[in-house]
Amino acid sequence: MSAYLVRFDLLFPEIAEHETRLLALNGGQAFPTDDYGLLESYCPDPGCDCQRVMLNIISRRDQNQVATISYGFDRTAIHAGPYLDPLNPQSPYAAALLRIIGAYLESEPAYVQRLKAHYALIKAAANPNHPAHHKLSAWLGEAQKLTKMDDPAADLREALRVISEHEPAFKALERKSRQKHRHSAKKTGK
Ligand SMILES: [Zn+2]
Repeated sequence: MSAYLVRFDLLFPEIAEHETRLLALNGGQAFPTDDYGLLESYCPDPGCDCQRVMLNIISRRDQNQVATISYGFDRTAIHAGPYLDPLNPQSPYAAALLRIIGAYLESEPAYVQRLKAHYALIKAAANPNHPAHHKLSAWLGEAQKLTKMDDPAADLREALRVISEHEPAFKALERKSRQKHRHSAKKTGK
């Protein structure tokens, strides 16, 4: 894993506009019910076969990064995750988001395939002939100069705004949480 992860939406903005997931999550008592953008970061080192995505979870209402989830595509690997990345922003309800987004990743193989395709695009950009290569090398040059970013959340907010414009929030998890609710209602009704 490279020390610097690259945001997918910075290298491939046109693809990211349409292929970044926004999830409408009903948090119940566990976390705020809200739309959450799943902004992706990947390791750009072409010599590294880490097979991972870092999901930066951005709350639409808070306009802030509320969890950072690391997920390995090789589900048999020891550190496959998903887990909360200890070096990146979390919130008091990050663990609750990890549980529901982890379950979402397990239940949506098509979405995981999309993430794998994005990972492959980032690795391909390491080739000097790739059209996105100049962006990657510029980004890596900047990242190595910076010891502390002024406000990294600001451009995450901008990225969330862009995907919110293009993509309706997925409600794939609503059915599940309603079922869970019915189940617990039945239990208390006994
Ligand atoms: Zn790597």
